[in-house]
Amino acid sequence: MNIRESNTMPKDDIRSRLGLRPVINVSGTMTSLGASIVVPQAVEAVSAILTEFVELGDLHRRASTVIAELTGAEAGFITASCSAAISLAVAAAMTGRDLAAIERLPDTTGLKNEVLIQSGHMVSYGAPVEQAIRLAGAKVVPVGQATGAAAYQLRGAINERTAAALYVVSHHVVDYAQIPLKVFATVAHERGIPVIVDAASEYDLAGFLADGADLVLYSGHKFLGGPTSGIVAGPKEMVRNVYLQNRGIGRGMKVGKEGIVGALAALQAWKTRDHDGIRARERKALDCWVEALDGRAGITARIVPDPTNNPLDRLIISVNPNEARITAWDLADRMAAGDRPVIVRDHEVEHGYFYLDPCNLHPDEEFVVAARLAEELDRARGSNEIIATPFEERLLAREAAILKWPD
Ligand SMILES: *Cc1c(COP(=O)(O)O)cnc(C)c1O
Repeated sequence: MNIRESNTMPKDDIRSRLGLRPVINVSGTMTSLGASIVVPQAVEAVSAILTEFVELGDLHRRASTVIAELTGAEAGFITASCSAAISLAVAAAMTGRDLAAIERLPDTTGLKNEVLIQSGHMVSYGAPVEQAIRLAGAKVVPVGQATGAAAYQLRGAINERTAAALYVVSHHVVDYAQIPLKVFATVAHERGIPVIVDAASEYDLAGFLADGADLVLYSGHKFLGGPTSGIVAGPKEMVRNVYLQNRGIGRGMKVGKEGIVGALAALQAWKTRDHDGIRARERKALDCWVEALDGRAGITARIVPDPTNNPLDRLIISVNPNEARITAWDLADRMAAGDRPVIVRDHEVEHGYFYLDPCNLHPDEEFVVAARLAEELDRARGSNEIIATPFEERLLAREAAILKWPD
């Protein structure tokens, strides 16, 4: 197929009107690419509310009911993002319902202000998770080492200043020798410490509460396909204390009416979503790529499950540069270049592999991805030299590019 003439891109695409490249996203739900494809129900709801007035407290009450229904929690609250939800949940753990304390934050004088987190959970999702804790005025207390944490270390870190313990669920966290959530929650609860679970990208809306989380936090714009938003679920009093932060540090992180109704619509749509049908469509994309790569020199492709057990698979593509005549990262970069950029999942690419994530494709885009792979691999095989940018050079170039914006 001639990919430039392929009909996978509408002619009046807003991106071309703005002079932006029409990205194909096979990297996952990345904020830097616009997160996810917002579901039609949320698109409709956002546009319907934008021109209307509404009593925001009542809208939040409605959202609370829907979140409660889906998560099994008592109450829920929509925030600007999961990152905001972390800051506000930490703030709530420190202030409770004390409105004066809420207005004083991030000054925490007189409040319990320490938040425990396993060292192996101190990840970056584009910004450091521990900064979201500090934003509320809290002090981060790491537990254990990156290579592991134990229940006795968590127990030993709890004192009279401990306000909360944060547990992160993510493919980014160290995936061995960490304290399992059930144990983490038991130890924290023995001393009356609330457990906040950052489950931003996790499809499981009920399991973390069942495993001992007091508050569980999700992104609205990842798997749910809502507009940019965050979701808090938990006991009524704790969720209310998070809500009250809108009178304090939450003001600068507020979600508007469109974010609330959009997240609400995405949650409602989640209930009736054709999960099996979507899984089957994703499988077809994976199979298409496996077929496109079959027999190519230096390339091995394998379908692998999601590392945190979300119901989705990805394709891992390993590149042997001697045979493929290109490194994995040069292949990733060439896929991302040009007028039909394909952005792959390359957070571990120095190991010589990257992933293709099929969760954010529009119909038929998988064929464009397959064609672009074939095109770049053919080109590499035809090149006189192995295409091998030193990895350090790529790292430094990326860092320099960040600091150049808006140029
Ligand atoms: C994406 C992510 C976040 C941030 O979520 P936003 O809603 O984009 O702020 C936080 N934690 C984890 C583990 C994430 O994956």
